[in-house]
Order: sequence, then C-alpha cells, then structure tokens
Amino acid sequence: MKSPIYLDNQATTPLAPEVFDAMVPWLKDHFGNPHSAHKLGRQTAAIIDVAREQLAVLLPEQGNVIFTGSATEAINLGFGAIYQQLKRGRNEIIVLETEHAAVRDTAKSYAKIGFEVAFVPVDSNGIVSLEALKSLASSKTALIAAMLVNNEIGVIQPVEAIAELAHLHGALMLCDAVQGYGRVAIPDNVDMIAISGHKIYGPKGIGALWTRAGLELPTLIHGGGQEKGVRSGTLSPALCVGFGKAAELCNSNLTKDMAHIEKLSDYARELFGDWLVNGAIDRRYPGNLNLRKNGLDVGRLMSDVRDVAFSAGSACASGSGRPSHVLTALRLEPAEVRSSIRLGFGRYTTMDEIEQAANMINSAAKAQLL
Ligand code: PLP
Repeated sequence: MKSPIYLDNQATTPLAPEVFDAMVPWLKDHFGNPHSAHKLGRQTAAIIDVAREQLAVLLPEQGNVIFTGSATEAINLGFGAIYQQLKRGRNEIIVLETEHAAVRDTAKSYAKIGFEVAFVPVDSNGIVSLEALKSLASSKTALIAAMLVNNEIGVIQPVEAIAELAHLHGALMLCDAVQGYGRVAIPDNVDMIAISGHKIYGPKGIGALWTRAGLELPTLIHGGGQEKGVRSGTLSPALCVGFGKAAELCNSNLTKDMAHIEKLSDYARELFGDWLVNGAIDRRYPGNLNLRKNGLDVGRLMSDVRDVAFSAGSACASGSGRPSHVLTALRLEPAEVRSSIRLGFGRYTTMDEIEQAANMINSAAKAQLL
C-alpha cells in the first residue's frame, strides 16, 4: 500500500533515521538499569547524561532537564511548582486562550483546589493581547503559562514579554515549547519549559521539563527517587538517547531545516493562493499553514483526499466533534472554523509532495464548491 503524503508534522514527526540508529544499541545490547551501581548501569547512566546535555544545548543555561513520558506529563509536573506559590498567598493562574489541552485542562484541574484560572484572549491573528494580560496579572498571580508556537495555527507568542510581566508580579512562567523547540529560539527568561521527543523527529513516549536552577517541584511520581526525586521510575536509555540525538540533529541542521521549510511554505502559499491563512502571517513558524476556504466541508474533503495525511484543526482535538478552540479564539464563525485545514511541513517533506498534495486538495475542494 502506498503511504499517504505526510503533511501533519504538528501531530507528530517521522523518526529521523540517525535517531533510530542511535537508539538500537540501547534496546539491543546495552540493557543495564541506569540506576544500578555496577558497570552496565553506569554505562547507561552515562549515555543518559549525554542525552540530557544534548537537550540542554537548545535550552537556557543554568537549569535542569527532567525526563518525563511526554510533554503533557512535563506540563503537569511544571504546574506542581505552584503549590509553593499557594503558600505565599498566590492563588491565580493565567493561561492563554489558545493553549493546548495539556495546559488548559491542567490549569482547570487546579480550580478544584482553590486556584482561580483566567484565560487571556488573543487578537484575530492569534497573538496574545499583552494589555489584557497586564490587566489580569497581579501580586496574586502564581503562574502564567504561554506556548511558544501554537500547534494549530503556528503563530509565535511574545514569550519573552510574557515572562517579564510574570516576573514583575513575582509569578512563575511556564512555556510550552513543544512546537518550537529545535526550530524557534526559546527566550531565556522563562522558568520552566516543556518539550516532546516525537515533535522533533525523535521517539514517542518521552518528553522533558527544563526548570530554572533553584526552582522547587513537588514529587509527581513517588518511588525510587529518580529524576531528582520528582519523577521516580526507571528511565528508558533508548528513548533518552533518541530524544538527545533528535535535539542534536535539530541543532546541527537548524539553518538547513529552516531554509527548506520556508521554501516549502512559500511554495504551498503560492499553490493555495486562493485560500485564506488563519493566524498571523509575519509571526509564524513556516512549517505550519492553517488555511481556510469558505463554504468548504472539511470532513468531506478529508474523506475525498485520502492520499494526503493532513488535519482538520488540531489532531489532539480531532474526534471530539467540538470546533477548534484556537480558531474560535480568532473570532472565526463556526462555519469558517469547519472550513479550515492544517498543513504541516517538516524536514522530510519534498517540493514534489507539496505540489501533488495541493493538486489533490485543490481539485477536491473545487469539485465540492462547483
Ligand atoms: N503542547 C503542544 C503545543 C502540543 O502540540 C502537544 C502535542 O500535540 C503537546 C503539548 C503534548 O505533547 P505530548 O504528545 O508529548 O504529550
């Protein structure tokens, strides 16, 4: 069976061949428990330290990298820092309206234990209103969470300014950098950063939380005391090695990857010239193109164009039947939300694939709107 053209790089990315090769020996030959004191254990512990350093190269200095099972877990772990804040009389959490469910739902869960959660609106381009954020932040604010690159529309948020504002009020700032890590620079004034292996051509089943040195986290998982006692459980050396290698490749290929992705994006915008772009044009990661053609039934489009893997909004929300909260936050009408698609390009997407996919999508859309 011929595999579809893959244009869903925000949902997940293919594993880089170099990552696969780097992982195999740690699945096959080197089986030691990284937490054992003998030679086999020390060997796997050492390679995990290498992976941690490879991740740290793309993160601010003076911090710690804690491995988790996913970015969702990293975000949940990061939110734990606000228990300390509660002791200081801070009981408010502020998150952007367009955050991923991993942030939105984690924030909402804290409402059950006495926190107040505020969602800051974005403008029609999807960029947070700093004025609205200023009016919400106060000496009661415990945490502000904001994503670097939006997973649905690709816009880049002013994270540095958001972190400055958080610190002005003595609050912590958590950045969900899942869609930006390895591609877009992360401002170094944030306090916590969540990242994910499978969004950077690394393996699924691993994420990490970076925390600024000195920041205290409560224990998320009790047990053997691994990961500085906050997240017990035996680490998978193969997953850590794969994540580290993926980060190293993002770092060494950064200029090349970005030039390639910009070229793909420019070509796609030309081929989809009669579609509207959802979200800011100038402040976006070019590997994400969220497009809209009014009147289109995207459900039908997706079943007509089975040879292209693309998304009708966020893959994380698909299947829920709910209109995308991100596109709704841009104040699009429900019908406009339903006529939007997300195309995601990556390191392995070719110009030829973009052309073929555009032909298929455009002719199916044309046939529908006749
Ligand atoms: N945050 C953003 C912006 C995402 O796009 C995703 C995944 O789609 C996540 C968090 C969750 O990442 P993970 O799959 O590693 O839990």
